[in-house]
Amino acid sequence: MQDVSKTAFDVLVVGSGASGGWACKRLSEAGLKVALLEAGRQQSDANFSEHKPAFQLKYRDQAASIIKKTRPVQKDCYACMEYNYDWYCNDLDEPYTTTEKMPFSWQGRMRITGGRTNVWGRQSYRLSDLDFKAASHDGYGEDWPLSYKDVAPYYDMVEEYVGITGMPEGVYELPDSKFHPPMALTCAEVMVRDRLRQKMGRTMTLGRSANITKAINGRAACHYCGPCERGCVTHSYFNSAFTTVADALKTGNCTLISDAMVYKVLMDSDRNRATGLLYIDRNTRQPKEVHGRAVVLCAQALESVRILFNSAGRQYPKGLANSSGVLGHYLMDHITGGGANGELEGLVGKASINEPTRPDGIYVIRFRNTHNGPRYTRFLRGYGYQGGGGFGFNFRAPGFGEAYKKALTESRAYFGLGGFGECLPRLDN
Ligand SMILES: Cc1cc2nc3c(=O)[nH]c(=O)nc-3n(C[C@H](O)[C@H](O)[C@H](O)COP(=O)(O)OP(=O)(O)OC[C@H]3O[C@@H](n4cnc5c(N)ncnc54)[C@H](O)[C@@H]3O)c2cc1C
Ligand code: SF4
Repeated sequence: MQDVSKTAFDVLVVGSGASGGWACKRLSEAGLKVALLEAGRQQSDANFSEHKPAFQLKYRDQAASIIKKTRPVQKDCYACMEYNYDWYCNDLDEPYTTTEKMPFSWQGRMRITGGRTNVWGRQSYRLSDLDFKAASHDGYGEDWPLSYKDVAPYYDMVEEYVGITGMPEGVYELPDSKFHPPMALTCAEVMVRDRLRQKMGRTMTLGRSANITKAINGRAACHYCGPCERGCVTHSYFNSAFTTVADALKTGNCTLISDAMVYKVLMDSDRNRATGLLYIDRNTRQPKEVHGRAVVLCAQALESVRILFNSAGRQYPKGLANSSGVLGHYLMDHITGGGANGELEGLVGKASINEPTRPDGIYVIRFRNTHNGPRYTRFLRGYGYQGGGGFGFNFRAPGFGEAYKKALTESRAYFGLGGFGECLPRLDN
């Protein structure tokens, strides 16, 4: 077995999620010797349970209180369930504090190869110059030093590899991606799409989702079983565990070091260069070192910042890479809220049990403060809606007993929307 403490790697990558997976793939395919340090254990197809009925689970996926015993914060996340909760960190082992007035539910702290790409919602949208150059548009914050033109070729490359289902719309605010054939909209969605366009001039499109609809790179097209957050044996959604990380390992140039909780970056203070990483082996609880010429931190936004603070020393008293003093500030998370649900009249159809489930919804493209549209005075920037519609059982039928059971089977066409907005960058975030 390779003794990693004695190996001189070219690059050390911390975290095997969306960003770390790409770093490892590109660097190891280019011939560099890479070590990938991941705090979690190894992922495997044997852990995937997307086809397992709930009755085969001990608690039928109905006992949130059992999960909350060890994951009281992680259980806030809709995708943390009896099927997969041991992919998430144990909140009791990894506690954090916030000030009393600023609680923060830090969800999606994964401890398994692939990080959050195991459970993510797969919605994959390009930014436009309305995002990259937002400050020029509305005067708040700073423009990115990059423009859409600079980033577009990289979007092309990533999307061709990842595979995004979607519909081209030609809308400035949401540039089209390189799409796989679109999953079909339901009748309810077509109806709402048409009305939104006719009556309000807004564009509703299929959610742009990292679920493939044609086979690529040994991955099969999605077969619409539905619960991707429980894994996928056909590898039909994008999870770095079975895409980028697997490719990196295949080169023979990448060594995955699992259960390695990175604590700090080791520095050569004379040369002002990183030389390695100090990590804790989670199985033995022993501190260990690994050495390389460069370090790439991809341990998730907050964890990477923590590692930089932990790396403070005499030469860097405020933390590593913090000469600006902004480390740990300006956090931007997305916010959700608002929206509506309703029934649609005039559509006749039938709800059914166990029908194919499209693992994707719809998206209403930003319509507020658009490139050439009017400026809204009470709200900066923009937001979109995710949602979807189709036929469902009439669970809201009145009554009980036999009459209720009968009324329940009368299908209803429903439609729902929920808002997704961005957070402004502020020092006290
Ligand atoms: C339920 C859910 C739904 C989401 N839906 C969407 C969506 O629809 N569209 C979208 O764009 N984004 C979505 N996201 C967000 C998206 O998953 C993340 O933005 C993305 O995965 C971030 O990639 P990352 O590489 O920064 O971090 P992650 O993917 O989180 O990977 C970080 C990895 O680093 C490891 N790590 C952490 N600390 C250490 C340490 N000290 N030492 C070693 N390893 C460490 C972790 O174990 C983890 O494996 C969703 C997230 C969640 C939780
Ligand atoms: S819905 Fe598609 S991508 Fe999701 S788990 Fe099923 S086959 Fe895989």
